[in-house]
Amino acid sequence: MIAKLLEKAVAGERLTPAEGLQLLESHDLVALGRAADAVTRRLHPENYRTYNIDRNINYTNVCTAVCDFCAFYRGPKSDEGYVLSQEQLIAKVQETVELGGEQILLQGGLHPKFTLEWYEEMLSDLKRRFPTVNMHAFSPPEIYHFTKVNNLSLHEVLSRLKAAGLGSLPGGGAEILVDRVRNEITRGKVMTDDWLDVMRVWHQLGGHSSATMMFGHVETLAERIEHLDRLRQLQDETGGFTAFICWTFQPDHTDMSDVAPAGSFEYLKTQAVARLYLDNIPNIQSSWVTQGLKMGQLALLYGANDMGSLMIEENVVAEAGTVHYLTLDQIRDSISELGYTPRQRNVHYDLIPVEHELKAVNANRLRDQQLLQLV
Ligand code: SF4
Repeated sequence: MIAKLLEKAVAGERLTPAEGLQLLESHDLVALGRAADAVTRRLHPENYRTYNIDRNINYTNVCTAVCDFCAFYRGPKSDEGYVLSQEQLIAKVQETVELGGEQILLQGGLHPKFTLEWYEEMLSDLKRRFPTVNMHAFSPPEIYHFTKVNNLSLHEVLSRLKAAGLGSLPGGGAEILVDRVRNEITRGKVMTDDWLDVMRVWHQLGGHSSATMMFGHVETLAERIEHLDRLRQLQDETGGFTAFICWTFQPDHTDMSDVAPAGSFEYLKTQAVARLYLDNIPNIQSSWVTQGLKMGQLALLYGANDMGSLMIEENVVAEAGTVHYLTLDQIRDSISELGYTPRQRNVHYDLIPVEHELKAVNANRLRDQQLLQLV
């Protein structure tokens, strides 16, 4: 049934939304995986697969929005809210650099009070101290929130943050880019067109970003395809997305804990279809943080060409109870086992020089040994 569609995608022809849906409705995971892998090998014929080293720093958990799937945020009046001090941020970046990290993923809740100057100072101070570290910071919900709090245009907010050191935008807060879904699971947060507009303006400024999808909650399969289609359309327009990453909703400790989580079959199938559908986004990252080592490794045979990041720190998924930690050696071994050479890359997918990569391996081994001694 789906063989003709798979042949078409493998040959580099574009799938229509109806064809994408037909693939998502299929249960032939083996055929989907084989086709997705063929596309990955066509796009990435090299004999390596990549990973990144960064740290996810959540500078605040205070948030004015309410997302039913989020176990991380605290309302502005909660006494469990925190804001990291600049000294704490600096210490975290310093440790990341010592472990061979090239990037900081800086994200937070939608804080009701901070002005744009507060974020500019935070970024410019970090950039002054760590000029080689890429600041992958502020997902579209935060950027959109900054425009509202400061009464400024998207162009002005993004230009000023760029001047202060913003390097690239993470694609968080996309969930499913369909307003019916967003209305059901979020309140007070950016809607579909505005999420895409943040990315559009950032790309027009010459910036790059990633794109994400969190699925397996209240969306239909057709809405998953609509999400992929909106991303593909924007990518045709701007070309600014470097990578796509999808993961399954993690329900523990959230207001949606009664939702049965999507399993590994659904994860691999959705990622494979995304590889076939997103013919203009070059890289797909495995989500081992939510899926674990084995499924994260298998994802490299179902359309992914990158293991994503060694997470020196992760808080958001961890609050929802399901988070997996891997050492750098585990990430590298999972790539080697598949017959590829593991290579460290930066946010632009340029390879890091091998000497730096080996230094990072040694620094991480030392840290892992020290952590083991503490247990
Ligand atoms: S997902 Fe983001 S915007 Fe939504 S409640 Fe959590 S921190 Fe706030």
